[in-house]
Amino acid sequence: MGRLSNIPVEELNNRIDGLSISNGSIENWAKTFVATPQRIFQPNIIEDVEYIIEAAFRQQIRVKPVGVWHSPSDLSCSDEWMIRMHKLAGVINVDTTNRQVTVYSGTLLREINEKLEENNLAMPILGSISDQTIAGCLATATHGSGIQYRSMSSYVRSLSLLLSNGDIVECSDTSHNDLFNATLCSLGATGVILTITLSVDEKFNLHEIVMPLSFDDYMSSEAEWLERWYTAPFVKAFWVPQANGISLSQSYKSFSDVFSTGNTLGGFLFSLVLQPLLLVKKYIPMIAPLISNLAWRYLFGSYSQRVDKSFNVFNMDCGLLQYTTEWSVPLSKGYKCLLELNEWLKYENDVDFPLEIRVAKSDDIFLSPANKITPYGQESHYLWIGVIKYKPYNCKVRYRKTFRKFEDILRKYNGRAHWAKHSTQTPQEVGEKYPLLNKYLDVIKTYDEEGMFINPFVERHLISEKNDNNSRDFKSYQVESHGF
Ligand SMILES: Cc1cc2nc3c(=O)[nH]c(=O)nc-3n(C[C@H](O)[C@H](O)[C@H](O)COP(=O)(O)OP(=O)(O)OC[C@H]3O[C@@H](n4cnc5c(N)ncnc54)[C@H](O)[C@@H]3O)c2cc1C
Repeated sequence: MGRLSNIPVEELNNRIDGLSISNGSIENWAKTFVATPQRIFQPNIIEDVEYIIEAAFRQQIRVKPVGVWHSPSDLSCSDEWMIRMHKLAGVINVDTTNRQVTVYSGTLLREINEKLEENNLAMPILGSISDQTIAGCLATATHGSGIQYRSMSSYVRSLSLLLSNGDIVECSDTSHNDLFNATLCSLGATGVILTITLSVDEKFNLHEIVMPLSFDDYMSSEAEWLERWYTAPFVKAFWVPQANGISLSQSYKSFSDVFSTGNTLGGFLFSLVLQPLLLVKKYIPMIAPLISNLAWRYLFGSYSQRVDKSFNVFNMDCGLLQYTTEWSVPLSKGYKCLLELNEWLKYENDVDFPLEIRVAKSDDIFLSPANKITPYGQESHYLWIGVIKYKPYNCKVRYRKTFRKFEDILRKYNGRAHWAKHSTQTPQEVGEKYPLLNKYLDVIKTYDEEGMFINPFVERHLISEKNDNNSRDFKSYQVESHGF
């Protein structure tokens, strides 16, 4: 029982009324989902969160802790209570001797980057942006790209978690280790993450070399293609299929001064030139190859070099609002998967650019799409392949059919979907692909018998017996009943 279990109802309600910010709707970053929860709370300190959870527990209300709603799917939607955690933010401690940092869970990566830099430290790896909360990244096993680097969750040493019964538990590899593992890719369903301690690296600059290649040269042989992932610590590729082009980015740790020979017009070209053309494409799809070739010529198809702070090189401008899906496939199957995708995409007008191709080392996290254990044996590395469909001027665009086709190809290569992005994975499919799924579900049953933190997304993709592959993800968010 939590420490507030004897507190009178009036006191509880008074306290949480002051934390309730709105009864209205909330929209995710890409404006692809809107939720209208019964209440939205914005706690400032840990005790606030304890009050909210105690009140929800007594009234048997489901609660969804969220970060800053950057997940492109409806993963962060709820029709009951929602707790926006981004005010519970800040760096608590920087331990330069052991290279560890402890932060509140709602801290934005951007803030962590800055604080670490002041202390001559840096995050070992980052994804494409630093606008998310650290807990959001960890709940979805957010990844970057580097052959020796796992998802960001793998750098968590310990965390504190508020459970549905009001207890706060410290978890790590050596304490409540199943709960710790499940929380490293929890989808928000194990409890509310309060604080996180991460391993970090010494501060570093990155020397990035970007090289344009034709797809055919990039894929000249499977052995060479595989070897390229090992040529630098951080390698990723941006693919513009209709222009037959791959922009290969290789980044090395560097102590040189900051410099750049790159194209600085990217954001300008995207919003002022490509955005109107993408809108025209909505009505005249056959201009797609023309737009791809323009993008290749002026944005992705040139050689450049720069040295910059690590986080500036890891991060990028993600262009326009977009639908997106991203799947992991074992690296050993990646080459053939890309060849098959190319046969389709070079004639497909309905997919935008660039597709992102990244790599990650496998891990041990129950629900991580890069978990080394598969039904067919163990994998050492995964290739991440992501596809996007822009929403020029926030217009609705068709994407479901194309994403389905993309998913079907990835499935053939034992693909697993990124949890924060769109997918049609059913509980049956997830059960077949994740040999450790039951360990994750057992943790939830042990620590949250009533399923207080289960939301419709988790229900639909991991639990429901309906096994409905009819992609409700791809409609606006709809309220559903729960059956956990
Ligand atoms: C432009 C863009 C670029 C991206 N780039 C990458 C990339 O390079 N690599 C990659 O892997 N992903 C990427 N993502 C996905 C992104 O990292 C995840 O969606 C991340 O979860 C977003 O963080 P958030 O703070 O917005 O979390 P939200 O979207 O608000 O929440 C995500 C999940 O975290 C849970 N959660 C949040 N806070 C807590 C808490 N305190 N306690 C318990 N659970 C919590 C929620 O319940 C939910 O399940 C990108 C997304 C966008 C929009």
